Amino acid sequence: MTSPTSAATQLKSDTSTDKEDDTNVDPELLEMFLEQFGFKDKDELLEAMDTHAEDVIRAQEAAEKRTEDPLKNWVRPHNEECPICLLPLPVYENGVMYRQCCDSLICKGCVSHHMLTLIKEGVEKEKGLNTVMACPLCRQVPKENVDMFALQMKLAKAGKHEAMYELAMTYIHGENGVIIDWDEGLKWIERAAAEGFGKASYFFGQCYWDGRNTIERDMNKAIKYFKQAGDDGFVYAFVTAADALYQEGEIEESMLNYRKAAMCGVNDEDLFTQLREGFGEGYITKEEYAYTLREYQKVSNEMKSASRTFALKHKM
Ligand SMILES: [Zn+2]
Ligand SMILES: [Zn+2]
Repeated sequence: MTSPTSAATQLKSDTSTDKEDDTNVDPELLEMFLEQFGFKDKDELLEAMDTHAEDVIRAQEAAEKRTEDPLKNWVRPHNEECPICLLPLPVYENGVMYRQCCDSLICKGCVSHHMLTLIKEGVEKEKGLNTVMACPLCRQVPKENVDMFALQMKLAKAGKHEAMYELAMTYIHGENGVIIDWDEGLKWIERAAAEGFGKASYFFGQCYWDGRNTIERDMNKAIKYFKQAGDDGFVYAFVTAADALYQEGEIEESMLNYRKAAMCGVNDEDLFTQLREGFGEGYITKEEYAYTLREYQKVSNEMKSASRTFALKHKM
C-alpha cells in the first residue's frame, strides 16, 4: 500500500531541488497524482503533504523518546487450535474450513491430508466424491439438497458464531433463495460481534470504511471495529486498522497495529513492506523491529506443518 501522502512526499522530494519554486513539477505527473489520490487541486495536495510531514515528525520523535517497547508485554489474542492436528489455526486467508456438522474450524492441512489419504487408499466407487468431501473430523458425508438457510438459522439460533456470520451473509447477498435483507443480516452480525466474534466486527469495520447500504462512511468507527476484530482473534484486522490509522495520520498507532499483525503471524507482503518502511523512517525502533520479526517467526513456526504447506502450495 502506498498512501497518497507518502507518494506525495515522494513527489515533493523528487522535484524539490529548488525549494522556492515548485512550479517545476511535471504537470502531467501532478495531474496523475491529483486524480489518483482524489485531490481537487495542487493546493489541497500541498496541504496534505504538509500535514503528513507533521505526522511523520511526530511519529519519529515519539519513537526517539520511547525507552520501552509498548508491545513488550502485549498478549496476542487467543488463536484456537485445529481440533485434528491440535496446532494453532492458520491466520492466512483460506487457511481454514468451517464445518457445520461439528461447528468447527479445521485447518486446510487436515482437510487436504484427509482427502489425499482417501484417494491413496482408493475411494469406493459407489460412494465416490462424497466420501472425499466428508468432514475430516466426524466423517459425516455432506447430505444432498440440504436447506442451507434452515441449517444456518438453526445453528445461529443455537449461538454458533460462524453460522451467525454465514446467515448474515445469506441475508446480505441474498443467497440460498433468500431475498436481500440488510437489516436482518446486520442484526446477526451485530449479535456475533457483541459476543466477541472478530470476523463480524471486521465486517462492520468494512461497512464503515467505505459506507455500505444504510451505514455511512465513518473512519473512526471503522478503526474501532477493526481493532476490536483483531483483539477478538481475527488478527488480519490489525493490518486494516493500521492502514486506516495511517490514512488518518496516526502513524505511531498505525505502526503498533502493523506490528501486532506480524506478531500474530499474519503473512502479508504489504504488511512487511510497511514494517520495513516504519523502521527505515524511524517510527519503529531497531529493538521493536527485531522483536516483531522474532515473534513473527516464532508464531509462524508454531502454525506450520507439512500438510498445511502442501495445501497452501496447491491452493486447496
Ligand atoms: Zn489441522
Ligand atoms: Zn463434522
